[in-house]
Amino acid sequence: MGNFDLLKVKGVSRRDFMKLIGATTAALGLPELFVPQAASAMEQAIKKPPVLWLEGMDCTGCTESTIATLNPSAAELVLDMISIRYHETIMAGSGNIAEEAYQDTLKDKFILVVEGATPAQEDRYCMVGGKPFRKTLIEAAKKAQAIIAIGSCASEGGGIPGACATGAVGVSEILKAEGISTPLINLPCCPVKPTTLIGTILYYLTYQKVPPLDSQNRPIAFYGTLLHDNCPRRGHFENGEFLTDWNDPAQKDYCLLLKGCKGPKTFTDCAQVWWNDNANFCINAGSPCSGCSEKSFYKQFTPLYTKQETFKLPGIGQVNADTVGTVIGGAAAIGLGVHLIATAASGRLTNQGHGHKEDL
Ligand code: SF4
Ligand code: SF4
Repeated sequence: MGNFDLLKVKGVSRRDFMKLIGATTAALGLPELFVPQAASAMEQAIKKPPVLWLEGMDCTGCTESTIATLNPSAAELVLDMISIRYHETIMAGSGNIAEEAYQDTLKDKFILVVEGATPAQEDRYCMVGGKPFRKTLIEAAKKAQAIIAIGSCASEGGGIPGACATGAVGVSEILKAEGISTPLINLPCCPVKPTTLIGTILYYLTYQKVPPLDSQNRPIAFYGTLLHDNCPRRGHFENGEFLTDWNDPAQKDYCLLLKGCKGPKTFTDCAQVWWNDNANFCINAGSPCSGCSEKSFYKQFTPLYTKQETFKLPGIGQVNADTVGTVIGGAAAIGLGVHLIATAASGRLTNQGHGHKEDL
């Protein structure tokens, strides 16, 4: 955030900012002619990429996740790295000050960050500042240099709101419907991982272009590997050891497939880059992966903690969950275990190409 933005957040408008520059130049004994130049020089010196951060149908979880970052700290992120000109949750300004900040940013070359889903058609739902969020999003999307949709709700599929009867969708669906061609980067996960957002912004600032993306517009750098291939419980999967009883200490580290784990269908770096500065991640904490980095989340992945009746596994095809569950310790387990191990040994379970994800 630049000096002017900081002043604005404290309730100082652009007019006041110009008065301040005028007073300063006068105090220095400089002629009035110098005021615009001084203001421009000051703004250039403090120039950081302006970010317009819109929130639609969200829980503010992605904002919480981002400002919980420790390295860089929230202060370094918000004050030193980027200039967040408008953000309904963290900006101190409100009312006309907020609206003025929004309108001013539209005139600049800005990056649009979108958090939350958008009503697909109706303009009377999700009103923000007295305006339909959908209209605001379309207006800003047309003018942005690039759009970063953060979290599952803003990404393709619409996340949890998209699974309900709200008719909510992600940014990509709105862009398609409105014929807007602004480059879009989707950073799904519920919520977005701060390292993913910061890394994407840094890439964009460094190379002035969007990073290489996959078919869901996700950066391959962060979403290019299958969670199942890097999972710390993978050895148990290959041994046919599946957790069926949460209360059995002997099973505590077993594979969570029968408890609804979507790891074999989920592309994410969650197993390599843990949350909260590498403190932990879902599977290591004992929770099955809900597949929140996929566009199928949430509607096709529920109930989250119940085994799917059947599922496909790479190299194996359709598997019946009951069969997998009952084979533990039984004669059939040997057959399945051998099959899984043989499949893994043949390399069919590992290093699945990114383009194969639809087959899982
Ligand atoms: S199914 Fe889930 S818990 Fe089991 S190995 Fe794969 S990602 Fe890990
Ligand atoms: S492990 Fe799965 S559910 Fe957990 S954050 Fe990663 S993709 Fe989402």
